Amino acid sequence: MKLSKRISGIVEAGIDGWEVHYRARALRDAGQDITMLSIGDHDQITPEPLIAAMAEGARKGHTGYMPMPGIPALRDAIAARVAQRTGAATTRDNVLVVPGGQAALFAALTAVLDPGDKALFIDPHYATYPSTIRAVSGVPLPVSAKPEHGFQPQLSDLLRAGPAKALLINSPNNPTGVVYSSATMNMIAAFARTNDLWLLSDEVYDGQVWNGAHISPRILPDMDARTLVLNSLSKSHVMTGWRLGWIIGPPDAIARMTDLAVTTTYGVPGFIQDAGLAALTHGDAQEADLTATYRRRRSIALAALNGANGITCVPPDGAMYVMLDVRTTGMSGIAFAEALLDEASIAVMPGESFGSAAAGHVRVALTVEDQRLEKAMQRIAEFAGERVQK
Ligand code: PLP
Repeated sequence: MKLSKRISGIVEAGIDGWEVHYRARALRDAGQDITMLSIGDHDQITPEPLIAAMAEGARKGHTGYMPMPGIPALRDAIAARVAQRTGAATTRDNVLVVPGGQAALFAALTAVLDPGDKALFIDPHYATYPSTIRAVSGVPLPVSAKPEHGFQPQLSDLLRAGPAKALLINSPNNPTGVVYSSATMNMIAAFARTNDLWLLSDEVYDGQVWNGAHISPRILPDMDARTLVLNSLSKSHVMTGWRLGWIIGPPDAIARMTDLAVTTTYGVPGFIQDAGLAALTHGDAQEADLTATYRRRRSIALAALNGANGITCVPPDGAMYVMLDVRTTGMSGIAFAEALLDEASIAVMPGESFGSAAAGHVRVALTVEDQRLEKAMQRIAEFAGERVQK
């Protein structure tokens, strides 16, 4: 039987760069010692107090259907966090609890796009952006951000992209680590206002800022009515597998996305929300600890590249990755990552998995312990150095 064009078109045919990660995982599962720097998942498990809060929530009876927009105490805690971090007035009516940042992305895109509507997004980009836009019958339009601009998007490139309904941004950024400057964020906000765009701001790395400051565009003049902010506890509280995130937006948009939740997820398990509430009310020390770990590893990774002659790198100002430019080797990111896995047993992601603007790059996730990371970075530098084209 023929499936819908919509579902058949979510993933484009062809190589997407993830093959090297799947191959690395298979080799590791078969017993080979592979240094896994490919995927953005933590090398530690969720802190025990959060697991205890989940178990206690379940034992107390939070095992039934839950209020669709989320339990009021969690919505209040999220609103308080957003207000405290950004200074923008935020109440529970601005908050919808969803199963993770990815579900937030799907709901937000569903809320703003009609079939055939175009959505701009900045390339390099988080891997699922184009497919999620297609999943809601939208048309993805990448706008390149270039290494020579430190990966800060430029107005001229946005203008060239043509009319659209929405713009999706991500700062601090996966994969580049760029944190948008105040000038960039103001330019983006002005562009959204002038062109009457919805602005979708993916802020899942808002707590991981190594230089500068994260600015949420929702606080900029006249932006709160046209901005949907997406966030989750995946990266901040070692909760990737728990699937707990949220959307911040105007109350009418939150109400309509609640209608969507009724037709899709029917809410988020109560005991998971209890753990999320514990994370937001008692988890500051654990969050700070995790953030310090990635800050330290970023320094270790950059120091290990000192003197490398085959690699250049825009040092990341945020998030848990380092993006390496390996174009001096003449290899694509895919070819580099495949060969690195074969010859050095190190798994990294090809830049091509994050869009054409990241071609000739590889992304290193800072997700192994310090010494192993240092050794792996030195090996990557040596590997690139041996392949520099004269
Ligand atoms: N957005 C970005 C930029 C990400 O890097 C990720 C995960 O890596 C997500 C969204 C999805 O996060 P979640 O685990 O909350 O679905």
